[in-house]
Amino acid sequence: MSTKTIEEKQYLVRFKCDTKSHLTIINHDVCNTKCDDKLCTVFCPGEVYKWEGTRMQVGYEGCHECGSCRIACPEQNIKWEYPKGGHGIVFRLA
Ligand code: SF4
Ligand code: SF4
Repeated sequence: MSTKTIEEKQYLVRFKCDTKSHLTIINHDVCNTKCDDKLCTVFCPGEVYKWEGTRMQVGYEGCHECGSCRIACPEQNIKWEYPKGGHGIVFRLA
């Protein structure tokens, strides 16, 4: 049985993006003032969250739908929903 690296596995996923984000930062001031480490930029495997100096940018198109940000944001400052039906990540097994 062959073992694939994370990078090889990520190469197999595709995304069918919605035009509306299924991820919402509830309060940008909270990110700015209460979360020095900007933990979502570390724990998110899809590198969805990017700190732009004063505001968190959310590249929802690359979300892997792992749900981590729902529980790992220390301030519970991310509203997480599944993408609308028919959208989101598509896993291909190979
Ligand atoms: S982990 Fe939560 S509070 Fe911290 S920067 Fe990310 S969204 Fe904001
Ligand atoms: S569900 Fe997972 S991949 Fe998507 S934004 Fe949250 S941590 Fe990142």
